[in-house]
Amino acid sequence: MSQDSNLVSAESINLAVSSALSEIDKANDLDELKLIKLNHAGDRSPIALANREIGSLQGEAKSEAGKRIGQARSVVKEALDNRMVELQNNREDSILVAEKVDVTQVLANAKSSSLVVGARHPLTTIAEHIADVFIAMGYEIAEGPEAEAEWFNFDSLNISEDHPSRSSSDTFYVESLDSGVVMRTQTSPVQMRAMLERKPPIYVIAPGKVFRTDELDATHTPVFHQVEGLAVDKNLTMADLKGTLDHLAKTMFGEEIETRFRPSYFPFTEPSAELDLKCFVCKGVNKKEDFDCKTCRNEGWIEWGGCGMVNPNVLETAGIDSTRYSGFAFGMGLERTLMFRYGITDMHDLVEADIRFTSNFGLGI
Ligand SMILES: [Zn+2]
Repeated sequence: MSQDSNLVSAESINLAVSSALSEIDKANDLDELKLIKLNHAGDRSPIALANREIGSLQGEAKSEAGKRIGQARSVVKEALDNRMVELQNNREDSILVAEKVDVTQVLANAKSSSLVVGARHPLTTIAEHIADVFIAMGYEIAEGPEAEAEWFNFDSLNISEDHPSRSSSDTFYVESLDSGVVMRTQTSPVQMRAMLERKPPIYVIAPGKVFRTDELDATHTPVFHQVEGLAVDKNLTMADLKGTLDHLAKTMFGEEIETRFRPSYFPFTEPSAELDLKCFVCKGVNKKEDFDCKTCRNEGWIEWGGCGMVNPNVLETAGIDSTRYSGFAFGMGLERTLMFRYGITDMHDLVEADIRFTSNFGLGI
């Protein structure tokens, strides 16, 4: 019997199989298993070499060797396949552990490490807070474009063609003055869009950016934020408006806050009112000799926003029968609200996105 024919003996094959199974079992990872596969099932493996010898055998010896080698190959192959599945599962588990991120841990450690954690801008937070208050009362969020058709921004809201707010000294016009497109000067055009898109009853709130040609100073900015509210239903009155705004004021400034309406004029509401808050610094006490209140300039009240009953002309423009339905609307500046709420005295702090300012407000709502 030649050296080569020993390769096909039962002893040789059993040895090759047990050696392969032992190494497969010890493989620690897929790379190791790949090498073991090459050594024990590859072209130069003992079993592959034995397989080549079959051709030189005859008769019964040939068929026995063929059967033995076939079984050996399938045993080794099955062991390789099983171990591969096990190692793949192990690898996925370890990746899940290694890549696990504990966000609370990061935040908890933030103050004591050099890791810089951002903060939400308080304007975003307050807009969401106000939206939440109204969503809880059954309002929907309405949106409109910031580059708005002049018709929506002015005409549809009963603002006459010669109204001073339409001049280019107050309003940003897009391209040319006769383009018919402006950067919206208020969130009120969303009211008209909401009325055209929906049928009464309508309850919407519209927070968003607005634009006016103001220079940036301590109390003005050319880009600022408003929140607008509109309700159209049967039998709505000023009492509903007052109750709604009182509720908002209490959620923003606390249960003790007092509000008042002061008669005013807006083209799109009739009657119209300014919404004032009782000054929370001097508690509405008019000027005393020993105290000069800078917050309300000794007025005792602070102007917060504008409101009123929707002008019937505006309802009719939107195709709503003003003899069957009435509506109320209100709007207030978010920067102004934030400044009151947190005693912020300079508008620059709100537009400069300095993390030393915003981080004081954290991430919450
Ligand atoms: Zn005051």
